[in-house]
Amino acid sequence: MSVVGAIGDWDERVRVFRSDDLDTFAVVTERFVVLVDTQMTLQNCQTILETLRPELATRGLLVVNSHQHDDHVWGNAALPNGTPIIALEASLSVAYDPRFQLSLEHKQREDSRFADVRIVPPNLTFTERFVICGGDLTLELLPAPGHSADQLVVWIPEIRTLLATDAAEHPLPYASETRDLEKLRSTLRMLQTLEPAVVLPCHGATSDAELLARNLAYFDELERRVNAGEMWSFEEVLRWMNLEPEKIAGFYRDFHKLNQQAMGAL
Ligand SMILES: [Zn+2]
Repeated sequence: MSVVGAIGDWDERVRVFRSDDLDTFAVVTERFVVLVDTQMTLQNCQTILETLRPELATRGLLVVNSHQHDDHVWGNAALPNGTPIIALEASLSVAYDPRFQLSLEHKQREDSRFADVRIVPPNLTFTERFVICGGDLTLELLPAPGHSADQLVVWIPEIRTLLATDAAEHPLPYASETRDLEKLRSTLRMLQTLEPAVVLPCHGATSDAELLARNLAYFDELERRVNAGEMWSFEEVLRWMNLEPEKIAGFYRDFHKLNQQAMGAL
C-alpha cells in the first residue's frame, strides 16, 4: 500500500492511502483524524494508523464507514476497541447480515491475508446528516444511495472537496441492486449541486471534479442507446470515453453489464 496524500493536487490535510485499485482517506483536522474507510485487511489499516501516529498523538481518532462493502470496512478489525465508527443506519443490516460473515469465511479459505479479519460493525449511526466539527475543517456526512443503500459521501465545504467514496467511480459507477440505478443518477446530480473543486472517489485514482459530469453523461448515453434498441459494448464505451482498455480493470466490464441490465437492456 502506498501513501498518496499530501502530495496530490488537493489540500494536504486530506491523505490518500492506495492499495491495488482502492483509495481510502484520512482527513487531518485540528481536533480529529478522521479515517474514511479502513481498507480490506488489518495490515493495511494498521499501516494507515502507524503512518498517522504523529497526527494521532494530539488528536482524537474517528472512523467513517462509507458503506459495508468488504474492501472498505474489513480493516475495522484493526481499530482500537471503542473507536467511534460512524455510518448510515442502513449499514447495520448489512454488517449483521449472516451473508456478510459467510462471504468473509469464503475469502478466508481462498486468501490468508484475510485470516485475522472479523466483522466489526459501525457503532454510531445516523439517517439524515452527520457533521464532524474538526475546528479548521467541517466534514458533512451525507446519504448518497444508489451504489448501495447505505452509501454515504463526505463533503468538506472549506476546501470544496468531496470524498465521493463509491457514489462516483472512474471509469463508471454501478448500482449493486439494479433497481437502484435511478437513485445512483439522482445522487450524482445532487453531488453536482455542491459544486466541488476536488472529487476523490475510492476507485479510479482521480481527483478531477468533472468525474461527476462524466459519470452522468455515461448513464445518459446508455439510456439513449437502450431506448434506441442499440447494444453498447464495453469496448465501445471505452472508446467513447477515450480510454485505453489496458488501463481499465476488467471488472468494469461486469459493472457496465449490470448497468445495461438495470437500464432495461437485457
Ligand atoms: Zn462499494
